[in-house]
Parts: sequence; structure tokens; C-alpha cells
Amino acid sequence: MPHLELRSLEKRYANNSDAVKGISFTAEEGEFIVLVGPSGCGKSTTLRMIAGLEEATGGDIFIKGKRVNDVAPKDRDVAMVFQNYALYPHLSVAENIGFPLEIRKTSKEIIKQEVAKAAELLSISHLLGRKPKELSGGERQRVAVGRAIVRKPQIFLFDEPLSNLDAALRTEMRAELKRLQRQLGATMVYVTHDQTEAMTMGDKIVVLNNGSIEQFGTPQDTYAHPRSLFVARFLGSPPMNMLNGTITTRDGICYFVSGEYKLPLNHNLPNGKKVIVGIRPEHFSISHSSNSPSDILGTLTLVERLGSSMNFYIDSGLSTDGKLSASSPQPQDSISYQIGEDVFFHLNVSDVHLFDADSGLRMI
Ligand code: ADP
Repeated sequence: MPHLELRSLEKRYANNSDAVKGISFTAEEGEFIVLVGPSGCGKSTTLRMIAGLEEATGGDIFIKGKRVNDVAPKDRDVAMVFQNYALYPHLSVAENIGFPLEIRKTSKEIIKQEVAKAAELLSISHLLGRKPKELSGGERQRVAVGRAIVRKPQIFLFDEPLSNLDAALRTEMRAELKRLQRQLGATMVYVTHDQTEAMTMGDKIVVLNNGSIEQFGTPQDTYAHPRSLFVARFLGSPPMNMLNGTITTRDGICYFVSGEYKLPLNHNLPNGKKVIVGIRPEHFSISHSSNSPSDILGTLTLVERLGSSMNFYIDSGLSTDGKLSASSPQPQDSISYQIGEDVFFHLNVSDVHLFDADSGLRMI
């Protein structure tokens, strides 16, 4: 039995906006599920419905097989950590962490033990006597997580918990939350608009778009086999390159054709079909010379040096979604590329993703 199951869950707000349009997914016990998508796609609304802070207008929520739609938030056995932490400023760190137990009228002795345990897990034992205003952003974040831990909930819910932290701290807290989740064996549902956070933290990710699920799967599988143009564009940085063209069959061979450019494909597709070819930047390799007719010629417009890797951008004259980019894992110190010169992007046809230009769905 899944630990959490959403079945055709819907939310229509009073202003008639359909924020969530019938979504279904499951979380097994101990799984870290990330809801990811652009702002306004329905992530927070979904999380708030699981918590019971918003009423579902359709569908069902099950926790350990029990339908909880009509169960009050405090009886659902879930703990939510918010973006703004919502700590009590006049209470100490220890009192903030112990607050949920205080409300349950747990004995002082047990509260003390549980607070100490949570503080140790979060490496904040030395801060227990401080007030929230005497803490850094990352420490406040830990206190908010501590307050969720002492409740020992069935499910932890996180709503963009790291978005107020600076980049370095975000990376650190990402790893820390993931470690904590494994250590506790906790089931977590985590909301973020940040694809890197989703890819690095989730056992599974739910990619949401406009209130519907585009794809639900492991980060690796979703990245390698995006089911739609939306998912393909949303995951990855720089984003997947997209070439617009048409299928042309000649002498039994199926080609992708875009203007003068022609790429023989390994698959048979209907002649005349409008398609979009997707190529990840890491699947393009840059060169001064061409060794295949399917290389793409372009003028180098930008080079990004990222230390351990480099990104190259070209203007190719092909019908594309933005400039084409290639990323190279190696710093190309030995070869220098000058802005404005002509270069070739080489690709292997086995790395190509093909999408139906009309439906936006993956074809192969
Ligand atoms: P996300 O968390 O992905 O940014 P939300 O779940 O907050 O998205 O919002 C989804 C959609 O529902 C948005 O179009 C938003 O404007 C709308 N919405 C959110 N809260 C309310 C509300 N209380 N009343 C009406 N519409 C809302």
C-alpha cells in the first residue's frame, strides 16, 4: 500500500481558476517526492491539500490507505515546513522546536529529550537557548525542520524551504535535508520551482504544468526520456536544443529536414510529419572541422566558462527555439574558439529526441 496516494485530485478556487486539474501519483514509505514546475502550476495548492489547509474540490487523498479528505489538518499526521519558517520570535530555539509537543501536552521530560534528539540530528544543539533573531537563515531553516521532526509525522511536507537562502547555503541544505530524510526513513513531499533541486533531491519527481502532471518518474528517467516538449525544456541547463522540421522519406530512409539541413534517422516516421528534434547540449561536440554531413554549421556567439566545463552558443540559421548550445565537460584550453568564427556542432543520431510538433509529445 502506498504511504500517500493522490487520486484525480482537483482544486477549483472560488474565482473559477482550476489550479489543480485531476492529478494522481503515489509515494511509497521512505520516498522523497518532489513536485516541480514553474510558478503558478499548482505545486503549493497540491501540497496544501495534502496538509488539509485547502479543501480538494475533487478526487481523493489517501494516507496509509485511509481517505483523509475530511480529516482535520491536525489529525492527518503530516508536518509542513514553510518557505518563511514561521518561527515564534519570542520563543527560544528549544521552545520553538518543542512547541508542537507542548500543544499535545507531552511531558516536559519527553519534550526535552525529543528536542535534544532533533537538535543533534540537525547539528544545532549549541543554539537551543537562542532566539530566532539571533540565528542565520540556514539555522532558522534547521529549527523549522526540527519542529517538524519532533512531531514524528507520517509525512513531511516542504514548501520551497530553501528559497530564502543564498546559493551556497542552498546547496549545503539540499544535501543535509536529503541525508536527514534517509536517516529518518521519512516520506517527504517537497515543492520547488528549481529543477536542480528537484533533480538532486527527488527519488521521484512530479513535473507539473498548468495544474496537470506532465511526467512522474525518477529524475534520471525523466531527464533521459522526457515525455513532452515541456518536460524536455524544463529539465536541464542550458535547456535542450530544439530544431523545427519535417520528416522526409527518400529511398526507404527517413530524414529529419530543416531548410538545407538533413539528418538521417534510425526510425520510420510518416512522410511530411512536422516534428521537433531535441538535442541535449552535452550531446553536441564542438569542432573546427566537419566529419559528418549531419554536423551543424554556425557562428559562435557566446562562450561561457564555468571552471570545470564550458558552454558554446551558435547562430546556425536553422529554425530553432533560441540559440543552439553545446556543453563540454572539459575546459577546452588546448583549442581556442573565437567569438564570430564558424564552428561545427557534431551529434550522434542515437542521442536525438523526437517530438510531434502538433501535440508536443515524444514520438520515440
Ligand atoms: P505554485 O505553487 O506552483 O506557484 P499555486 O498552487 O500557488 O502555484 O497556484 C496555482 C494557481 O492557483 C495559480 O494560477 C494561482 O494564481 C491560483 N491560486 C492560488 N491560490 C489561490 C487562491 N487562494 N484563490 C484563487 N486562486 C488561487
